[in-house]
Amino acid sequence: MKLKIAIQKSGRLHDDSIKLLKECGIDINNGVNKLKTEATNFPLEVFFLRDDDIPQYIEDGVADIGIVGENVVLEKQKQVNIVQKLGFGKCRLSMAVEKSVDYTSVKDLQNKRIATSYPVIVEDFLQQNGITAEIHEISGSVEIAPGIGLADAICDLVSSGSTLFMNGLKEVETVLKSEAVLAACHSLKPEQQLLLDKLLFRIQAVRKAKN
Ligand code: ATP
Ligand code: ZN
Repeated sequence: MKLKIAIQKSGRLHDDSIKLLKECGIDINNGVNKLKTEATNFPLEVFFLRDDDIPQYIEDGVADIGIVGENVVLEKQKQVNIVQKLGFGKCRLSMAVEKSVDYTSVKDLQNKRIATSYPVIVEDFLQQNGITAEIHEISGSVEIAPGIGLADAICDLVSSGSTLFMNGLKEVETVLKSEAVLAACHSLKPEQQLLLDKLLFRIQAVRKAKN
């Protein structure tokens, strides 16, 4: 019996996910362009996937656990347990408008067009604030939407803010703070739960040593 973990194939979370496993004393052959690999010294199978697909794989039990941004877990609305925050991949999902726009409060978003890759989280935020707005879902390069007249505001992931700045935008609301998390399937078998507990114990030791 092996525990199956899904991690990002390439992108911002890939290296830190591999590093975390290494720090937990788990050796994996990380071949490029591989779909999956096995740890040599822990009963762990590693799947390399697009981050967007990870919550679904976990809900379906194709993967038992996975490392993914909390933002993706919330957006995808899949049935998974967040079992541990991992302290990397820190970012925020923020509203931004063009620098020249007078913005004083969330009310300024009323009836505006908002471009985002996170329609579910944005809709939730607007509802909580009693705002009605038009959400335009786009999958990439959200930050250019105001400049080309596609939207009045955007809601996108930000870490330093330099991408917003370079596109003539200013950050006006934080909608969500996010970091990478370990997510797990709701229906783990007892043996898999034991392996997860073992892994979690190591992750927590690694995280304590860093604080
Ligand atoms: P994939 O090819 O797997 O779909 P992606 O392009 O959707 O990758 P990345 O840009 O690699 O995703 O980001 C992965 C995760 O890294 C994000 O979902 C988020 O949790 C986190 N992250 C941290 N900082 C940032 C940032 N500045 N911009 C975007 N994502 C960030
Ligand atoms: Zn993605």
